[in-house]
Amino acid sequence: MSYLKDFPNPEGYFGEFGGAFLPPELEPHFAEINHAYRTLARSGDFLNELRYIRKHYQGRPTPVYYAHNLSRSVGAHIYLKREDLNHSGAHKLNHCMGEALLAKHMGKRKLIAETGAGQHGVALATAAAYFGMECEIHMGEIDIAKEAPNVTRMKLMGAQVVPVSFGGRSLKEAVDSAFQSYLSQADEALFAIGSVVGPHPFPLMVRNFQSVVGIEAREQYLEMSGGELPDHVVACIGGGSNAMGMFAGFIEDAQVQLNGVEPLGRGTKLGEHSATMTYGKPGMIHGFKCMLLADAEGNPAPVHSIASGLDYPGVGPEHSYLKTTERVAYHAINDDAALDAFYQLSRTEGIIPALESAHAVAWAMKHGRENPGTTILANLSGRGDKDIDYVAREFGHG
Ligand SMILES: *Cc1c(COP(=O)(O)O)cnc(C)c1O
Repeated sequence: MSYLKDFPNPEGYFGEFGGAFLPPELEPHFAEINHAYRTLARSGDFLNELRYIRKHYQGRPTPVYYAHNLSRSVGAHIYLKREDLNHSGAHKLNHCMGEALLAKHMGKRKLIAETGAGQHGVALATAAAYFGMECEIHMGEIDIAKEAPNVTRMKLMGAQVVPVSFGGRSLKEAVDSAFQSYLSQADEALFAIGSVVGPHPFPLMVRNFQSVVGIEAREQYLEMSGGELPDHVVACIGGGSNAMGMFAGFIEDAQVQLNGVEPLGRGTKLGEHSATMTYGKPGMIHGFKCMLLADAEGNPAPVHSIASGLDYPGVGPEHSYLKTTERVAYHAINDDAALDAFYQLSRTEGIIPALESAHAVAWAMKHGRENPGTTILANLSGRGDKDIDYVAREFGHG
């Protein structure tokens, strides 16, 4: 496993991407996080505790399922890694549990984060409840109104939801607000980033916590297929954590083609999509370098996707790097195709996917139709319960 050991380098770079561009007052805190993680990642106690949590609390390993009806209708073999069955309904708990365990070992008593649609906030509130920690989630007022069920879930689990009422009152302002709050209490709190983004060491830590997905899936697939590997592995990409977790299990298998799927939204013009890899260029956001969708002044551009977990104008630095080496192929799937996959998977298999995950399923269906007989393992990053009211109201029952 040399790639995962060699990347990122000690300064947190994947080629030209990554790094840590921090206000000076945060530098010592990130140095402390980095040191703690490096030490704990090698500690048997830490790894055993994480293993215990995954098995007895999260319900891991999640299964790999051969989607036999969908496969028959497409004419190729589609397998699903069922992260929708991970406790709290998505892959995000994998890294939130890791981050919370790190915080505990660092002697912190509080977790702070921002959330957009509320998925990261819910996963972090879950982890905080498990460890008996305080949890402070910053969320734009617009998102609070849109995502009421997730706000309720966070509050039920004891998190404090801080409404953000300045600027666009959405994700970007929530990040600023959470960072500001963290600055004033960094001695006792950990800022828990929600994907393979942000300053080093978060892209490294979150990838490693998520790699359980790919490691399990590889073993399960080998067992189901009698020793074969899939032709393709595919996952959707917002920041890129579920995809990096999945890819980590297969990155040394040169014969397995890795595919990341970004949202093409409702069109190819800036503001209509969130396809960072396809239309972005190198830039800087939230303290790290990556591919970025920027406006004429170089500021992060407005983005859109039917899946709110995918609409981020940046992307993880490791994905930015893996595009330059061409180890991973990046594709874009639009809202209509994702919606069609959402209906198809629900109808044919009785599995309602998150709209985010439906992007990966849509690519698997499209590629399978064009390449009959091919084998595709798709990461079903989350369940679609959070999306059913919106989909039924806007588009009907399919
Ligand atoms: C948040 C979320 C995503 C996008 O996040 P990544 O870091 O790109 O994985 C994808 N799927 C689901 C279900 C999510 O909740």
